[in-house]
Amino acid sequence: MLEQPKTRPEWLRETTLVSAALPEPPLVRKYAGGQPLDVDQEYERALREETLESLVAAGVTLVWVRFYSGFGLEFEKAEIERVRDFMVRAQARGLRVAAAVQLGLVVPETLLLEEQECHNWLQVNADGQHVLAGGHAAGVRPCYNCEGFLRYAERVCLLAVDAGADLVQLENVSYNLEPDTCCCPLCVAAFRDFLRQQYGAHDEKTRQAGLARFGHNSFIHVRPPAMEDDWSGSSDVRAPHEQEWMKFKVRTLTACLGRLSQAITRRDPECAVGADLLRGRYSLGETLHGVSYPAHIPLVDFVRPARAFSIAHPFSPYGESPGGAPEHPAGEPKSPELAPAYLHPLAVAAELKLAHAFGVAAETSAGAARELKLLMAWGLATETNLGVAPLETGLALNLMHNPFGLGCLAEDGPLGSQEQAAREESMKTVRAYLDFYTRHKAALLSARSLAAVAIYHDTANELFWPATPHGENQELEAKLEAGGWNCEPLYPNQFPDISRYRCVVVACARLLADEAVQVFTRYVEAGGGLVVFSHWGKHDEWGRERAQPALAALLGPDYLDGLPALTPLCYKGEPPKPLQRQVGAGRVAFVSWARSDEGTLAAVSFAAGGAPPWSVQREGTRPLSWAVQAADGTLLLHAAELSLNAPAGGLRCSIACDKQPQQVLPCAPGREFAPVAFTWENGRASFELSAEAAGGQMPRYVMFRAEFQAAQQ
Ligand SMILES: [Zn+2]
Repeated sequence: MLEQPKTRPEWLRETTLVSAALPEPPLVRKYAGGQPLDVDQEYERALREETLESLVAAGVTLVWVRFYSGFGLEFEKAEIERVRDFMVRAQARGLRVAAAVQLGLVVPETLLLEEQECHNWLQVNADGQHVLAGGHAAGVRPCYNCEGFLRYAERVCLLAVDAGADLVQLENVSYNLEPDTCCCPLCVAAFRDFLRQQYGAHDEKTRQAGLARFGHNSFIHVRPPAMEDDWSGSSDVRAPHEQEWMKFKVRTLTACLGRLSQAITRRDPECAVGADLLRGRYSLGETLHGVSYPAHIPLVDFVRPARAFSIAHPFSPYGESPGGAPEHPAGEPKSPELAPAYLHPLAVAAELKLAHAFGVAAETSAGAARELKLLMAWGLATETNLGVAPLETGLALNLMHNPFGLGCLAEDGPLGSQEQAAREESMKTVRAYLDFYTRHKAALLSARSLAAVAIYHDTANELFWPATPHGENQELEAKLEAGGWNCEPLYPNQFPDISRYRCVVVACARLLADEAVQVFTRYVEAGGGLVVFSHWGKHDEWGRERAQPALAALLGPDYLDGLPALTPLCYKGEPPKPLQRQVGAGRVAFVSWARSDEGTLAAVSFAAGGAPPWSVQREGTRPLSWAVQAADGTLLLHAAELSLNAPAGGLRCSIACDKQPQQVLPCAPGREFAPVAFTWENGRASFELSAEAAGGQMPRYVMFRAEFQAAQQ
């Protein structure tokens, strides 16, 4: 972790971030194979002035270029020169340039020609083999503890800064799954030192910690643990030796990202640092790859999903397909609830909310475009029923959850590569959304969400019990969203801010640190609501078993009576009865996973003390909604239609507000509306946008502004 929070470049807030990406340069695509015959000409076209013109015309403000691909600075020299020239021309037209540098993959056969030491930079797994990075045929993972590699990586980053990059994107900084990770002599030595520093005999505190954790203080002969083949987080990580190894990988990536981020910022404080850390929040854990959101996101200014790996969005029922092209999914989606068109946007929203929780800029609609293309490829959606919706869905989700801009319009290449007619249609849509964003930008940037419910996440559970929290939090968030309770993630970093939520759900926390237990207890006593799903907190953050679950005192004697029937994830016989109780000024509720969705919603309603803070309804479909409050007090209620067909019926909405609004104005890109009639009763404003009021054509996205007298003074 950095000593102080990273200073954020001003331009990130000042610019409306709308991006498009150049294709990968020919040398990368030739290496991967399967490129089109005219790959050289295609890239040349992408670098031309016409491309820049089309980007500017489409409203793009940030262009992604591949600056370094892992082959070696000498080997890539000509390519780097070409892209440097493009960067200068792009900036002359007022565009910002993001330079992507490949860090988690090196190509030794070319790099060796210029860096003879580089064979010592490579990861070596437990079998003594180099670790393939996937994606490229011969790309190998470098060791993030290797000084030689880190210096080279620093040189690459600074070269990108000196070339005038506005943002340097650190790509692919992660590990393969166990046991295909680095056990080179450097890592072994660093692991021993990591253990000694925390648990060695050199001072009294660490000596005691070592005795408590390992029963000894000697780590001279420790080796990385032998993890099972294809270990994918399906079993707990229980042994301290294995747990510390998981933490060691996170620490190694923290040091690597922190060092490169600081080097870039020192060279130019206005150059932003980005990383492709997002792995789909609920897909198989990012922690399996050594990535920890609370440790790593604060080190950068900007996050986006990994491009180098094909990871299906976690809300999609098809799971993960690392490293390769996704296969045709077997069978139909499990249920309409799981229809990708609905679930996918929830996943995009989850990633944007995550970035927002850590205060960094993000873009994710690139993933949206890719996912929607996949749906078309799989025959689950067609051009006809999607219309321009993929683009519009991405834009709408960004308006709802990304105050920094509208995300990525084109990942595989500039918009100019589309067919003429489609391009004009897309550009018209983008322009309307851009005008809309610009008009409301100040309010959106200053706003805080009104979400009443937060779902608790922490590193111990995600590192040592990685498969379970992801799957179950996914299910839970979808359930709550369907019941009108929109949620945000809550990590321990955000404990100082916990009182802004009416309810915290501890859904998946087999391990619970004393600190978290104390925070939850104080939070409830001061008036908060807590929902607990099982005997969470039976173990502390090292997995040591407590005499009774740590939250038992809050949940009271009836909770303990129900416990003998509990086994970790399933119940023998009848599931325990739900339980609700007042504690201090607050409320706690227990509900078992085996109970129905209604039980879950009842527990949340009780703990949150009343109705959801807002509601948006439409006959026959379920619009996605989100509400925020701008700094001047104005409430902004977003509603986006996610069904593949154009929205038909009117929207019925309500939102909690302690004062009577002066007016409620529906706003939509490219449309003008008159204020709608509203009622204000019991601290809640209710209103409707009927199909008639919308001239028979409902917008796919609409934002209601509830304005107040005081706001205008
Ligand atoms: Zn190593």
